[in-house]
Amino acid sequence: AYVNGRYQDMRDASVNIEDRGYQFADGVYEVCEVRTGKLVDMPRHLTRLQRSLRELRIALPMPLSSLAVILHEVVRRNRVRFGIVYLQISRGVARRDHGFPLKPVRPSVVVTARTIDPAKGAANAARGIKVITVPENRWPRVDIKSTALLPNVLAKQAAREAGAYEAWYVDGDGFVTEGSSSNAWIVTKEGRVVTRPDSSGILSGVTRGVLIEALEALQIRFEERPFTPAEAVDAAEAFITASSMIVMPVVTIDGHAIGSGKPGPVARRLREQFHRFSAFS
Ligand code: PLP
Repeated sequence: AYVNGRYQDMRDASVNIEDRGYQFADGVYEVCEVRTGKLVDMPRHLTRLQRSLRELRIALPMPLSSLAVILHEVVRRNRVRFGIVYLQISRGVARRDHGFPLKPVRPSVVVTARTIDPAKGAANAARGIKVITVPENRWPRVDIKSTALLPNVLAKQAAREAGAYEAWYVDGDGFVTEGSSSNAWIVTKEGRVVTRPDSSGILSGVTRGVLIEALEALQIRFEERPFTPAEAVDAAEAFITASSMIVMPVVTIDGHAIGSGKPGPVARRLREQFHRFSAFS
């Protein structure tokens, strides 16, 4: 792991107990896919990181180019060929007080990387995953990729306990916002791919952004609008996207089968084609 300027064995790596990331979840993070030892769409992740930091008024502790070097180095030291690299920046260490530290402190930087067997994702994608719905209960600024993830933790756990893989949040108007750690999509019976527009109520996924460009290139019709769980159940297909799972077909929502109850051809094609449209570094 990289921790505040040092590369350390994961077992010895630790942060100060007065780190504001630890005490207040006062920090932001990114998860970037690693594929054949390369980072996927890293510039987009770093751009989003910079935005999250700016929104929370946390200083960027070093140039993005230096962060990129550290990300590559942690991937290299862990010999990750397929997996993820995790980057977290907190406001830093200060005596516990809700308000920002009076004297500026240096933000804390942590980077870890781990291998994930690509066969696992492939098996899930071949089977298709189950989704449950839960009421949206997060703060209205989930466009900031903050480490404050308690509602997401509880939603994912609810999904697990229901034998599902992901939970979709449903807002007060009855529309799906996104998953606990993914963006939500459907494919209508007319073959139109639909996802909710960017707003402060969803995280603007890097995978989502790349996929929208891919849809255009592949000449697949695309529409940005909210949809309800009922529309999703009635759709031809549904899927979720995230850096750690690319395009993952959804086959049931709250126990109701979508289409044939098997992964659909559009989701399969998009999963196969995705990396043609992503940038490797
Ligand atoms: N929405 C939420 C709440 C997430 O946590 C994530 C990723 O972890 C996503 C969407 C997908 O974002 P990305 O494609 O950048 O991984």
